[in-house]
Formats: sequence, C-alpha cells, structure tokens
Amino acid sequence: MQDRARADKLWHRVAVLCAVAIAFGAVAALTRGREPRPLKEAAPDGFALLLRDPALQAALAGIEAAEPALLDDQVAFTEIPAPPFGEEARAARLKQVFEALRLRNVRIDAVGNVIGERPGLAPRPNLVVAAHLDTVFPEGTRVKVTREGPVLRAPGIADDGRGLAVLVGVARALERGGVCTPGTITFVANVGEEGLGDLRGMKHLFGHELHGRVDAFVSIDGTGHGITNVAVGSRRYRVTFTGPGGHSFGAFGTVNPAHALGRAVAAVADFAVPHAPKVTFNVGRVGGGTSVNAIPEATWFEIDLRSADEAALASIDARFKDAVERAVRRENARWAAGRIDVAVELVGNRPAGRTSEDSPIVKTALAVSRALGLPASLGEGSTDANVPIALGIPAITVGGGGHSSGAHTLAESFDSTDSWKGTARVTALVFALAR
Ligand SMILES: [Zn+2]
Repeated sequence: MQDRARADKLWHRVAVLCAVAIAFGAVAALTRGREPRPLKEAAPDGFALLLRDPALQAALAGIEAAEPALLDDQVAFTEIPAPPFGEEARAARLKQVFEALRLRNVRIDAVGNVIGERPGLAPRPNLVVAAHLDTVFPEGTRVKVTREGPVLRAPGIADDGRGLAVLVGVARALERGGVCTPGTITFVANVGEEGLGDLRGMKHLFGHELHGRVDAFVSIDGTGHGITNVAVGSRRYRVTFTGPGGHSFGAFGTVNPAHALGRAVAAVADFAVPHAPKVTFNVGRVGGGTSVNAIPEATWFEIDLRSADEAALASIDARFKDAVERAVRRENARWAAGRIDVAVELVGNRPAGRTSEDSPIVKTALAVSRALGLPASLGEGSTDANVPIALGIPAITVGGGGHSSGAHTLAESFDSTDSWKGTARVTALVFALAR
C-alpha cells in the first residue's frame, strides 16, 4: 500500500510539474521550432490536457509494479552478444519486441538501426527516443548475467542494457496508460555508439533514414539520473609510418619508422592545452615492427583528441597533424638512406556542440527530474546525442535510473534499487516532449 501511495504521489507531482513546464511554453515550443511559444497560447491546451489526462497517470502508476519484468528484459537483451559491428542478433530481438508493442512501420534500416513509430495526433513534432544496441565487448565475451539480490552483473548490463530496457519500458507504459500524444514518438534501438562505431547509427538516422524529420531527440544511455546537454566531440586517427626497413646493423643509417613515430608522440605529449574549454589528447595504441634487430618497415599509433568546443577541437587537430609532419621531416633529414612516408587516417569523428541550458528540452528534463524528487543536474559527454546537437536539433542524453559500476569492464554491474524511478522519469519526459 505504501508503494502504491508513493507511486500515486509520484505521478501527481509529475503531472503538476509537466503542466507548469508547458505553461511556461517550454515544452510547447518544440512544436513551433526554436522560439518558446507565448504563455497565453500554451496555457489552455497544455494545462488542461496534462492535468486531466488519466492516461499519463495510469502510465506512471503502473511502472513500479512493471519494473521486475523490465529487469528480465534488461537481462535478456544483455545476454544477446552485441559487439561493435555485430549488433544483428540483438537488433532482431528488439524488432520482435517493437512489433509485440504494436509500434508502426517497424523496420531495420540500412545500417542496422531498429525503428518503430508510435503515431500521435499528427506526424510532427516527431520525438526520437533511442538507446544503443552495441557494447564495447568483442565477440566471444561471456555475457551471462548473474544476480545477487538487486544487483545484476554482466558486461553491458548497464551500458546500454539499461537504456534498451527503459526504451521498451517507456513504450509499454504509454501503451498501458492508453496515452495519446499530439506528436509522434519514434523509438530507435541503434547501432554504432561505442568506440569505432563512430555514431554510424545516428549519422545514418539523421543523414538519411529520418533526415529532416526529427524535431527533438532523447538518448537513454547508461544509468543514474543525469542529463547530458553538452556534446564532447572527438577526432580519432590511425597514423602509419612506412620506410624501406632493413637489418638493424647492416642497414644502419636508414630512416626508421619507429623513430619517426617516437618523434611525433613526444611532440604530442608536450602539447599544452586549455582547461576551459577542456581539451584532451591520448595516444591509446602503438604498434609495428617485426623484430628487435630489424629496422621496421611500418609502425602505427592511434590517437583520440577531444573537446566540447568545435573550434578548440579543430585547433588541436591541426597541431597534431603539424606535429606528425614535422616528425617525418626531422627523421628524413636525420638519415641519408630511404624515406619515411606517413598516412593519417581519420577513424573516428564525433561532432561537438551544446544544447543550451535555456532550451525547452533541457528545461523540461530538469523540471521532470525535480518533479520526481530526483537529482537534476546537467553534464557533458560523448553520446549518440552529439549528432543531432551538432545539427542544431534539440537533443539530450539521459540515464535510465538505477546505479552502475565498472562500465566498459568485464566487472560491469547494475544495482536495480529504485530503478523504476528512472523508467518513470523517462516516460514522463517523453510524454512531456511529444507535443
Ligand atoms: Zn552507452
């Protein structure tokens, strides 16, 4: 009974706060482009609709009771391997779930994103809600979930097994409540969020599949109740140095690709970078050569450059390329025999940007969080939302509730204590934005 009372109180607070947000034109602005709608225009339909909407109340009231079943889904999704560029099996499962939820036009697009639509009274605004299918773990990783009380353990159980579960939980809650939204909600389980996936799911979604037809975007990624509105961009390169190679003694005096690499990495290591905007660099992998007594024919390294500021990112990108060229010139000038060539290959490109703290989508997310008595804080990160943010589409990434530790490690775990609040928050947020 106490739980029921808590749930009742919860939806009531959400309904009131959502109504307040709408009254201030925050949510309604999404239907009219970037400028907030005037208060007078927004108030009548917004207030009346939300406060009298038993569907929203029904949707939220059932969430806590439905959470154990949702955790079973989270386990089931997590136990289907989804390594980078190998998301097909998990995608097929999500497609089945979307169909069972009677979403419309359920399909898998050209790059492997699973898409299902929940029509509202009108096709627009179209709110896209997404969670990523892929994990960082290679093929063959043991993904069996173990449970210890409220704690679930397995690689990917939180990132983004939780996001996928909440994605489904939101659709189910809206269905259970018989919710009818003014705009359309498009649910997406997408590929390519992690590592060298390079946001290819989102790039295809916004560049082709739903090009020009998305008015707002919410990614559900990981756990907790954070709201990410700042997109940390990155450029990732694989740099390969090549030369003639040779015997370490007999061919001494020949240019050396390992030495050229060393010069380049040493120059990067000494880069001075600003704290604000934060700019980072990391040489993450190094390789090449055949033997300790052979001058290598080829060496390579991979580097990750990041900033939430596009200009700062472009600046360190230029400095990095200059450092590589100078390293090659110096190695070639050092020795008479042979010549170093270098190839700088872009292997990752995530755009940077920011959804303003004053934007309707951010204000609404904060209002909904506060309504649930949850922490309402903004942060920065590199997520699927980078793509729409860089395109100027209102976009954020939110946590799916619960707590996690060891993300991106084999020891990843998810604590489901009160995780239903995450499902409730995202459901309320989607309800508030789909208009
Ligand atoms: Zn993730």
